[in-house]
Amino acid sequence: MKPLPPGSTIGILGGGQLGRMLASAAAELGYHTHILAPDAESVAAQTASSFTRADYHSRIVLDEMAARCDVVTYEFENIAIDPVDYLSTKVAVHPAPAALAIAQDRASEKAFVDGIGGRTAPWKRVETLAELEAALDAIGAPAILKTLRLGYDGKGQVRIADASEAEAAWHAIGQRPAILEGFVEFSHEFSIILARGADGTMVSYPPPWNEHVDGILARSSLPAPPEIAGQWGVAAALTGRIADALSYVGVIACEYFATPQGPVFNEMAPRVHNSGHWTIEGAVASQFENHIRAICGLPLGDTALTAPQVVMENLIGTDADRWAEILGEPGAHLHLYGKGNARPGRKMGHVTRLKRTL
Ligand code: ADP
Ligand code: MG
Repeated sequence: MKPLPPGSTIGILGGGQLGRMLASAAAELGYHTHILAPDAESVAAQTASSFTRADYHSRIVLDEMAARCDVVTYEFENIAIDPVDYLSTKVAVHPAPAALAIAQDRASEKAFVDGIGGRTAPWKRVETLAELEAALDAIGAPAILKTLRLGYDGKGQVRIADASEAEAAWHAIGQRPAILEGFVEFSHEFSIILARGADGTMVSYPPPWNEHVDGILARSSLPAPPEIAGQWGVAAALTGRIADALSYVGVIACEYFATPQGPVFNEMAPRVHNSGHWTIEGAVASQFENHIRAICGLPLGDTALTAPQVVMENLIGTDADRWAEILGEPGAHLHLYGKGNARPGRKMGHVTRLKRTL
């Protein structure tokens, strides 16, 4: 892949905070960015060079995007495949739509990872209550029922403590195609964030320990405790095999559970990831910069830590009201996403704290 020189235009599908931070990273490297998103409040537009507010499905809009952009990427995985496929016939699209298709369907995602020798929780795809009951019989409780598609931040999933809860769980997720997963007894959760170039070169970051509250990422901390550090090699190697198998170009994030038997793959995101926001100040080159480098065919950047200890805390809902206090903290880097309405559970910003000494 011939490097795309600075001055070129990168198209981004999606208008959220990930697009916002990608656009900032692109601007630092001298690229222009163009956002396509349907929402009036598209916070990515605030840091991008240009913005089209339109539905993803208009061929006229997509033709225009293909004409004005030298490469196109996306910042959320629940985008419909059709516009991405259409764009990829007219302009380079990274990561390729195939990665998106797998990551959008929890059953294909798990089957794909099982197929390349990764360890997943026991799982079964279910389409009816009877199938759910049979799956519970086979897998046992406790278990987690997750909608096949469109789940995020713990939405679209319900825990089943006992087989007698099957019917209630089936209704709770809206009686939709789903997967039932055995409950993994993990000590910690972590993620591998990896960038792969078109030539197959890969770099990955040291793994953060990710703590969730109410299904939403609350904190990512580095360096990770020994339970995670000891599984880093195996998880990074599996993430690399996933990226290779998909001929992936860009940043991919895989979530893992650390267990005494080794890392268990949970899910992948074909994009930059919340558990990698610390890389903006906490790594030499951020995940956003490395995504831009990868999709533009540039050499990938250094993933080493810039401080002995790095902690990223999400600012959810009214947490962001603490901005003045956070600005007063030495070593704290505040990021606010420019969103208006601080709804409970909404990601409004994050703060990364670098500690110079351990
Ligand atoms: P989302 O797409 O909402 O991030 P995940 O599959 O990552 O969905 O699930 C959200 C959280 O629920 C995980 O980070 C983990 O804390 C918990 N969880 C998910 N699956 C399992 C499982 N099989 N066993 C134990 N905990 C799980
Ligand atoms: Mg997750």
